[in-house]
Amino acid sequence: MSAEASNPEVPLVGSPYEYRVALGEKVGDIGIRSALDSGDWGFIHSFQTGSAVDGPGMRIVAWTSGCQFQCVYCHNPDTWKLTNGMPVTLTRAVEVVNQYRHSLRTMKGGLTISGGEPLMQHRFVLKLFAAVRKAGVHTALDTNGYLGDRLSDEDLGHIDLVMLGLKAITPDLHQRLTGKDNQPVHEFARRLAAKRRPVWIRFVIVPGWTDDLNEVGKMADFAASLGNVERVDVLPFHQLGRFKWEKLGMEYQLRDAQPPSKEKVEEVLARFRAAGLKVV
Ligand code: SF4
Repeated sequence: MSAEASNPEVPLVGSPYEYRVALGEKVGDIGIRSALDSGDWGFIHSFQTGSAVDGPGMRIVAWTSGCQFQCVYCHNPDTWKLTNGMPVTLTRAVEVVNQYRHSLRTMKGGLTISGGEPLMQHRFVLKLFAAVRKAGVHTALDTNGYLGDRLSDEDLGHIDLVMLGLKAITPDLHQRLTGKDNQPVHEFARRLAAKRRPVWIRFVIVPGWTDDLNEVGKMADFAASLGNVERVDVLPFHQLGRFKWEKLGMEYQLRDAQPPSKEKVEEVLARFRAAGLKVV
């Protein structure tokens, strides 16, 4: 297939807050299977340039489509469906990243692959990382960790940083928050720890869901027990994605939720610090 052929008018470089749907809907089941099996092309919502919040330094971020979680607070529900993303060849994706490689190196940044959930397309992700790493670009994987067993130990050695999104520690809460069990996530976290791979934890404070300090304490203790967590990004819930839920016609449980107060954010940060972790 000719990647990007179906939607030539949609720019590849954009923002995760752009609403993008059905960009790969013409691909079909055989094409999807071919992409997932070969990793020679993938589905991407957009490339964002100049991000200072998705890993160290200044970064280009590839926002992939496809996610097996359905987080109640997700700000990019248009990325859940694989074929909402744009079909892009590996060659083209490498070109996009490599045109920025000198400035990425100068600004101590690199490529972050986020989503959606990047490991839905793990072969594409690994090939893209391998190609840009050859050009000296730092690689970071922003993942919910559920499909971590798709990565071999050798694969892990080719990813410079894993940014692991931990949603909740209490199993029932995690299930209600994401629709999935957190056991595979914890197994991946422990495996990364055993391999001494650098990890940043990402934790979203969702009022009424994850802001209970007892739950936060369990999260902090789990993160601290790993021994390989370089820092924790504490991210306050926001409403920038509400319009996407509305456009998709999906029920949004957090429609009227407010971002956490400064005091609550401070309390959460303090709990992570008390566990000996660096927080941002
Ligand atoms: S893991 Fe990320 S992309 Fe997937 S549903 Fe949760 S917040 Fe959204």
